[in-house]
Amino acid sequence: MKIVDIRATTVAVPLQAPLRHSNGAHWGRFVRTLIEVEADNGLIGLGEMGGGGESAEAAFRALVPNLKDHDPFQLEALRFKIANPTASLYNNRTQLLAAVEFACIDLIGQQLGVPAHDLLGGRVRDAVPFASYLFFRYAADGHAEIRTPDQLVAHTRELKQAHGFTVHKLKGGVFPPDYELECYRALAAAFPGDRLRYDPNAVLSVAEGLRFGRAIEHLDNDYLEDPVWGLEGLRAVRERVSVPLATNTVVVNFEQLAANVLRRAADVVLLDTTFWGGIRACVKAAAVCETFQLGVAVHSSGELGVQLATMLHLGAVLPNLTYAADAHYHQLRDDVIEGGRLPYLDGAIAVPSGPGLGVKLDRDKVARYAELYRELGGYPYDRDPGRPGWYAQVPNERFADPSIIDRYVG
Ligand code: MG
Repeated sequence: MKIVDIRATTVAVPLQAPLRHSNGAHWGRFVRTLIEVEADNGLIGLGEMGGGGESAEAAFRALVPNLKDHDPFQLEALRFKIANPTASLYNNRTQLLAAVEFACIDLIGQQLGVPAHDLLGGRVRDAVPFASYLFFRYAADGHAEIRTPDQLVAHTRELKQAHGFTVHKLKGGVFPPDYELECYRALAAAFPGDRLRYDPNAVLSVAEGLRFGRAIEHLDNDYLEDPVWGLEGLRAVRERVSVPLATNTVVVNFEQLAANVLRRAADVVLLDTTFWGGIRACVKAAAVCETFQLGVAVHSSGELGVQLATMLHLGAVLPNLTYAADAHYHQLRDDVIEGGRLPYLDGAIAVPSGPGLGVKLDRDKVARYAELYRELGGYPYDRDPGRPGWYAQVPNERFADPSIIDRYVG
């Protein structure tokens, strides 16, 4: 089997409502690049990457001359052909590598007639549990604003009833820490027996991180995720707070993982199939975490069905995945895969059992959402449409005022 072509298509798929985070917002849609790697036997492998547009599509096109005739089975060679670590100072192609790796694993699985998880060590679970992933959000098209503790609890109750979540992750860093603490406590009071996590995307000062961490120590926490920026910042909080610390921001490669093993700053590493450069890199990282008794979770960078499939196959094969995975997936209004959005059952999504990644593109949906992208374009992830002129600082000193109903103009 040999690669003959790579095609990239940017799509914009609507979210239920604009989601707020510490850096800005997801402006009511996810922009993603879908890739199709075509092999000489007619098979097509699927990949996905965050963001999109002309430059992303051109970056994939630029890989074609070097990957033409590459055998998709040769995954280690692929790593060096796309993202040689000594060249990454000039060409950081980790995310491109990830998307192509997904597609090659999809091709291998289709060629052999086996699901991706059987190529990755075999599954140890049939379904992957997910956390609810709660956001403060702006109102849109019948989806209510989420700003107050009551609104947050009502939204969580709806999600729990619809999907069966028993773990709830609050994305914070939007409002002042004391206000978000009130929201977090409201969740703990409303859902006794469920587990909680809080992630302000690293914008708190160490003092605020300590204050928040100590205030939640008595609650049923999975972990406190990236309360502050950097390995040293996390270490400073970790030394004085008893809640486990997690990160998806500063342990995203093997060098950083080694640093965290030698001087521990985070107790739990959130593995991301894109940021780490593929599913296999995450499996390797999980083995290091197993050896050094670091916890493992699965990070979400805003996935459609192709990327979700990579997260499910990853989650299926990690014996040490003791935490529910994250996904923005339930925030989407639609998906681009055949059959529509994969369903949650009791807070988990079944691992695809078909050959390769086990998902196929719905061509009509891809065309529709490619058109939506052409119509709406991208959006600045690090700006908030309801706060014109604002930009994030780290540590942040200018949180949104929770008493003001911000107006979303987008
Ligand atoms: Mg995070």
